[in-house]
Amino acid sequence: MDHKFKKKFGQNFIKDNTLIKKIVSYAAIDKDSLVIEIGPGAGALTEELCLSSKYVLAYEIDLDLKDKLEELKKDNNNLEIIFDDFLKRDVIKDIKKYDYKHLYVISNLPYYITTPIINKIITDKIDVEKLVIMVQKEVASRFLAKSNSRDYSSLTVFLNYHFDIKKLFDVSRNVFVPKPNVDSSVVELKRKKDKINVKDIDFFYKLVRDSFRFKRKNIKNNLNGYNLDKIKEILEKYNLDLTVRAEDLDLDIFIEICNNLCN
Ligand code: SAM
Repeated sequence: MDHKFKKKFGQNFIKDNTLIKKIVSYAAIDKDSLVIEIGPGAGALTEELCLSSKYVLAYEIDLDLKDKLEELKKDNNNLEIIFDDFLKRDVIKDIKKYDYKHLYVISNLPYYITTPIINKIITDKIDVEKLVIMVQKEVASRFLAKSNSRDYSSLTVFLNYHFDIKKLFDVSRNVFVPKPNVDSSVVELKRKKDKINVKDIDFFYKLVRDSFRFKRKNIKNNLNGYNLDKIKEILEKYNLDLTVRAEDLDLDIFIEICNNLCN
């Protein structure tokens, strides 16, 4: 392919057709769906997504890919491509005109902005039912980390609040062009149906972020300014005290603290 790959846009394109089919098959796309793809690149995955869904809405930042992608559009009348930075878009507005039953994000993500993309989907309250995304292998470990482990972070807590997370399979670096320096994993994030809801989602985000603010510090220090007496009471129920660190607290405990402080 005659394209000058841009590192600054995280461009590593899939060159293996079997892998593309595998991703789409694992994604189990309902035909009555709108699929959002972030970074279609040369459209390898996009084409397969168009065959399986009702609509595909793709966001591509690199205008050099315009000719190639416009070509793809000619053969797929259910495809729309927005040439813009996904992070800057009002996605809820972009998808308003579509009529669909299920909303998915299926994408080989640009790795340099994996966390901002996921944060955006969560905090913009984009009602995605399922994400099937290719991420760096280490990032997949962070998504799936258990408490008491090094990889457990505020992102882990947020994601596990909203989604059931599963690693689908690992992907070798050899199936990309250019070949990246890391291996990858395809993960599925399925929106939880039955969960204990937090009373105030924005307060929950702030509480969790603040709890992890300084990694070496404990809850007493990081949550200085919150009602520490109430927090202490809750922690005691779990045989913990204020010297505990955020990385040792399960999602359920964060939810309980949040809902008690929201009263
Ligand atoms: N989907 C293609 C594939 O699998 O072969 C390309 C994936 S490549 C890892 C990531 C793609 O995301 C590139 O095409 C890149 O130009 C695009 N991209 C990078 N930053 C972006 C952004 N902020 N908004 C939209 N697209 C972006």
